[in-house]
Amino acid sequence: MDALETFRQEVREWLQANCPESQRQPAVREEQVWAGKNKTFPTDDSKLWFERCRDKGYTVPEWPVEYGGAGLNEAECKVLKDEMKAIRARTPLLDIGIWMLGPAVFEYGTEEQKREHLPKITAGDIRWCQGYSEPGAGSDLASLQTKAEDMGDHYLVNGTKIWTTNGDKSDWIFCLVRTDPNARKQEGISFLLIDMESEGVSVSPIELISGESEFCQTFFDNVKVPKKNLIGEVNTGWSVAKALLKHERKLMSEIGGDTPGPKFGPVQAALEYVGKGADGKLSDAALRDQLVQHEMNFRAIGLAHFRTFEERMTGQTTQLPLIMKYVGTEEQKRKEELLMALLGSQALGWYDDQFSEDELLTARGWAFSKALSIAGGCSEVQLDIIAKRALNMPDLPRAKS
Ligand SMILES: Cc1cc2nc3c(=O)[nH]c(=O)nc-3n(C[C@H](O)[C@H](O)[C@H](O)COP(=O)(O)OP(=O)(O)OC[C@H]3O[C@@H](n4cnc5c(N)ncnc54)[C@H](O)[C@@H]3O)c2cc1C
Repeated sequence: MDALETFRQEVREWLQANCPESQRQPAVREEQVWAGKNKTFPTDDSKLWFERCRDKGYTVPEWPVEYGGAGLNEAECKVLKDEMKAIRARTPLLDIGIWMLGPAVFEYGTEEQKREHLPKITAGDIRWCQGYSEPGAGSDLASLQTKAEDMGDHYLVNGTKIWTTNGDKSDWIFCLVRTDPNARKQEGISFLLIDMESEGVSVSPIELISGESEFCQTFFDNVKVPKKNLIGEVNTGWSVAKALLKHERKLMSEIGGDTPGPKFGPVQAALEYVGKGADGKLSDAALRDQLVQHEMNFRAIGLAHFRTFEERMTGQTTQLPLIMKYVGTEEQKRKEELLMALLGSQALGWYDDQFSEDELLTARGWAFSKALSIAGGCSEVQLDIIAKRALNMPDLPRAKS
């Protein structure tokens, strides 16, 4: 047996012994475990599962042991992921510190910054949020105006960020700030870490049409930020920002796995809600076509993810990751549309107790999926990136004024 197969066997045995039965099914939103100073656990089992994973380094298995990871290489991580998927084990800990900030700190942080921040992420002690977008700077992110003035021993931050997901529940925020107002817009930006408990930080939730409020506007009013919280060099934050966006795009391209949703996928939903005709085929031919198309696309995307993994393993760099956010989120949206069509009027409930929980989740999943082609960079901008950076296409000639 080769080393990887031995590792697979060990992982299987560990999961068998340590993953509680109740943690072997997809989590609905209330059952998810998010990092944070005040993190809560919906059940004793979810706490046990989190603690066992944390102690084993499995909350972020690819990070080195000294920062609380398990020091697994990429192939071992894939084995762990596959084995967890096989028993439908829940992700033990959720946080954008794991998915986005941590990898950027690895790339651009000093050793002191790594030791300060990474172990808190693996242990789930701190919840992070992202302070990129501003009221006048979304797709055109480099136009951001929140400024950080150099006051000698600290920065003084003033401005506002918007669409800060879970800003009201987070302990720290990573922010893009303008440190040189006179430089070309991408060149005067820096990347700062800010404790949300600092004096002058306030957060205002934005109520959505659903009555829920995941988004916030975050305000900085003369906030003093220690200089040790600058990641990378001053005025070179755009490079850190882009590296982080690479990880955000990867996360978005894989969306669906951890998103709370109905317990059924399109195929099960088709069998349950549409049913088979006398010929043994799905009764509705048009829906059957859409279902087959979706299954093919989903598998193709899965294979493309596998290809990017294999390319990384063999040291190749290709442009494939650049297209994955776009194709992954667009297909996820089609999947939600398909589920709506399969469930028919049973997918039209919002709160009503005439609908099952899965039916209500289908409606919410469909509504939320509309955000997938905006969050992390809108689809139109992704297409621009693909055209320029993956396909090397020239810029469109500008219209003469
Ligand atoms: C669910 C969700 C979570 C988010 N969480 C966060 C967060 O935690 N932190 C954070 O900082 N931000 C967050 N955002 C904000 C997100 O990054 C921005 O919404 C996104 O970058 C788009 O910016 P905008 O909303 O200002 O839209 P705009 O830039 O105004 O764009 C609006 C539309 O105009 C079109 N458009 C814009 N530019 C171009 C172009 N160059 N070419 C063609 N068409 C174009 C596109 O159709 C685009 O959708 C989140 C957004 C969503 C939906």
